Amino acid sequence: MPETQSQERPIVLVVDDEEIMQNLMRDILEASDYAVDIAGDGEQALEKLRSKNFALVFTDIRMPKMDGMELLRRARSLKPDLDIIMMTGFATVNVAVEAMKLGALDFITKPFNLDHIRLVAGRSIERRVLKKQAEEGEYYKRLSLTDGLTELFNHRYFHQLLKTELSRSERNNRQFSLLMIDVDNFKTYNDTLGHTAGDEALKFLAWLLRHHARASDMVCRYGGEEFAVILPETNKAEGKIAGERFRRIIEETVFENQEIMPNKNFTISVGLASYPDDTQSAEELVKRADDALYQAKRGGRNRVASWGLEMSKNTAEAR
Ligand code: GH3
Ligand code: MG
Ligand code: MG
Repeated sequence: MPETQSQERPIVLVVDDEEIMQNLMRDILEASDYAVDIAGDGEQALEKLRSKNFALVFTDIRMPKMDGMELLRRARSLKPDLDIIMMTGFATVNVAVEAMKLGALDFITKPFNLDHIRLVAGRSIERRVLKKQAEEGEYYKRLSLTDGLTELFNHRYFHQLLKTELSRSERNNRQFSLLMIDVDNFKTYNDTLGHTAGDEALKFLAWLLRHHARASDMVCRYGGEEFAVILPETNKAEGKIAGERFRRIIEETVFENQEIMPNKNFTISVGLASYPDDTQSAEELVKRADDALYQAKRGGRNRVASWGLEMSKNTAEAR
């Protein structure tokens, strides 16, 4: 979770060896509603940076012990995202350019122009807030599309992806396939080893599916121990090959404590249906892949079944 937006005033660290400058900067920044912390030299500044989060740092360049350039270098490796603004009484372009090259955000020159300081500080803080908002937006967007345990696309997003893939295939006159995957005898695994071990196995399984899928395949967690994979540009015969590949990979991968399973192995059953051969509706495609999956279970598990005319009769009878 990203930290929640802080309602407190941003804290600015001022690093300067001269008390008069410290006080001046404190007055200016506090008047602009920043909280201010002061360090008298570079060492002290680094110590403060290690123990507290600052929104921004103003540092003098010429200081005894550790100068501002050295502090900049060290602070950047300690907190790469931190904005650092140099204060210099002998503003040569060279020093400023050198500092910017090392990652300083900006520089201000002595004697100070109060408006300039407010402007530079305000701009830096605004930039940070915007960046954080953008990151949080991304985070929540990702959260709404993916499943928390496996990080695969979630059930809701699966249906959206399926609809999109269907219209795309319709438009381009292409085929695509859908695999419904269900772990065999997962209840045994769960009940014997516990829910946490079950969760770990699902996470691992999800990783294997994702890892062995094509980049264009969409691997989703359909629910519990069921997964759905959309295979774009894939006809039935190719879909069968893909399903068989997933089945074999899971069969051959050793899952922790898999020997407690009825067939001493962690396996999956796979059902396959294809667009447009089996149906032209998204809803029905899911149903047909699911019927095929049921057929794979009935046939003895650890296998791939494709939806077809023969099968639909069998399934209808079986139900
Ligand atoms: P089958 O081969 O017929 O699929 O047998 P099964 O035991 O896998 O089928 P069943 O649907 O009876 O059991 C599925 C079990 O999966 C039930 C539940 O305990 C477990 N399960 C479902 N979702 C989760 C989950 O998110 N985490 C864990 N640990 N277990 C889950
Ligand atoms: Mg199962
Ligand atoms: Mg199930």
